[in-house]
Amino acid sequence: MTEELFREDATLRECSARVVALAEGGVILDRTVFYPLGGGQAGDSGWLQFADGRRIAITDARKSKESKEHPGAVLHLLAPDADLSLLLPGTPVTAQIDWARRHRHMRFHTTTHLLCALVPHPVDGCSITADYARLDFHMVEPLDKEALTGGIARLVAEAHPVRHRWISEAELDANPGLVRSMSVQPPRGLGRVRVLEIDGVDLQPCGGTHVANTAEIGAIVVTKIEKKSAMTRRVVLGFAA
Ligand SMILES: [Zn+2]
Repeated sequence: MTEELFREDATLRECSARVVALAEGGVILDRTVFYPLGGGQAGDSGWLQFADGRRIAITDARKSKESKEHPGAVLHLLAPDADLSLLLPGTPVTAQIDWARRHRHMRFHTTTHLLCALVPHPVDGCSITADYARLDFHMVEPLDKEALTGGIARLVAEAHPVRHRWISEAELDANPGLVRSMSVQPPRGLGRVRVLEIDGVDLQPCGGTHVANTAEIGAIVVTKIEKKSAMTRRVVLGFAA
């Protein structure tokens, strides 16, 4: 299993690591700062740098689905023309993420938590990319674009600290209201669940990457509200021009 350094510190831009294996079109490392696609958040891209200065591009990251040998491993996906001869098991590398792209994911992702506080309805879909984010709410009432943009701006200006902690599965079972998302259930079977807390605003299980304070989100606006179905209202977020 890959040691997932981003779970404890989302601000890490690079780490030293060793190649474990090649599998499923990607490379498995013993530890990584690459967030793998999950919970609606896009996977990281970036580079592996070698001691001699050469670099290999990583196009995306995701959790291995097939690997029985390396269960739970993070796959760092390679371009089709990548030089696999550089990636022998045991080779030391520096794993570097495209930080500008990841920081956009973090700003959007943290904003989706603010939306959860502003819209008190269950979430039934989520997608976070570097250019936009969308969050689907299970509800019939209309939503107001300007009011939500204003609500986000207020919570950003109030500069609420953002932090994560781990709780036991028993504690989660005792507080079912913590699970806001209907489509994404927190991973079970590990004995503990990661919860994300925005001081005085939102608390829910989440394994994604977030900024450390809502002030770091900056200027984000609701660009669109769509009625996706009789029971679904979609809120689309974008960076302010
Ligand atoms: Zn989150």
